[in-house]
Amino acid sequence: MSPQPVRKGRELMARIIDGKAFAGGLRARIGEAVKALKTEHVLTPGLAVVLVGEDAASKVYVANKARQTVEAGMNSWEHKLGAETSEAQLLALVDGLNRDPAVHGVLVQLPLPKQISSMKVLNALDPAKDVDGFNVINVGKLATGQDALVACTPLGAVMLAKDVLGPLEGLEAVVVGRSNIVGKPVAQLLLQENCTVTVAHSRTRDLPAVVRRGDLVIAAVGRPEMVKGDWIKPGACVIDVGINRIERDGKARLVGDCDFASCEKVAGAITPVPGGVGPMTIACLLRNTVKAACIQKGIPIPQL
Ligand code: NAP
Repeated sequence: MSPQPVRKGRELMARIIDGKAFAGGLRARIGEAVKALKTEHVLTPGLAVVLVGEDAASKVYVANKARQTVEAGMNSWEHKLGAETSEAQLLALVDGLNRDPAVHGVLVQLPLPKQISSMKVLNALDPAKDVDGFNVINVGKLATGQDALVACTPLGAVMLAKDVLGPLEGLEAVVVGRSNIVGKPVAQLLLQENCTVTVAHSRTRDLPAVVRRGDLVIAAVGRPEMVKGDWIKPGACVIDVGINRIERDGKARLVGDCDFASCEKVAGAITPVPGGVGPMTIACLLRNTVKAACIQKGIPIPQL
């Protein structure tokens, strides 16, 4: 199915994908599922979030995660540790959370201070509680097509694409970016959906020509407005994962990795920034927490 552009005046423009509304609907369904788990199984899913240091953006993310966890009716715990925390201290906290039966999901907010190895900490998480999906067991399960806890932003990006396009089977999908936290898991999810997947990166030759192959383009580059409208195949679906803080006309703004103004004239559908993929991340985190709690208790996972 191709996304249907909409007419604005004389021009056909891309349908704007409302990630905020989609995430709101998902959170509402999660809230209903949590109510049912409480009454039918005496189970309240619980999420522990660990923040180390004083990174301003991380503090905002953690506060939002905690608020939305509580709003969905789940238990929420915040563990705030100082910037000088040692790796051993953080590993001890993770070990305690792994053992706590009330805690079904554990998220360690990245980035971590430089004295701590992120890889070591993520791999110390119990894979069954790894609701961010970064533990090597979950990464491996995703890569081998096994059921896994999947990283939240990639999951949210692909859910939006499926909502717009329906089944993705057979589509040419171009992922721009190959990071462990976005590009690679997005590519794995798209393979599972039977797309033909191209993963582009900083060494890709003739990036515009590669992007132009995509019926579906997922941009996760971290470069403000890099993907231009004339790189997009007419009618393609563009999912912009980028979140970049820039200053324009003396004002601070958030922009994506796609140049929205030129892309919306060519694409069939496009996510805005903000209000596209961003809100999906926490909604998928809550979804993963419900899934983790149900698996740990041996209860069927609600369809969300
Ligand atoms: P990252 O770790 O910096 O990875 C960026 C990727 O883009 C790398 O694979 C890099 O290629 C590639 N790249 C960089 N410059 C390029 C160029 N000129 N041409 C082609 N490819 C290029 O970034 P990330 O963590 O994946 O994040 C990507 C974006 O998503 C950022 O804007 C970030 O803020 C956003 N993000 C949003 C959410 C959310 O919505 N909640 C969550 C996570 C990230 P190489 O591998 O060759 O270096």
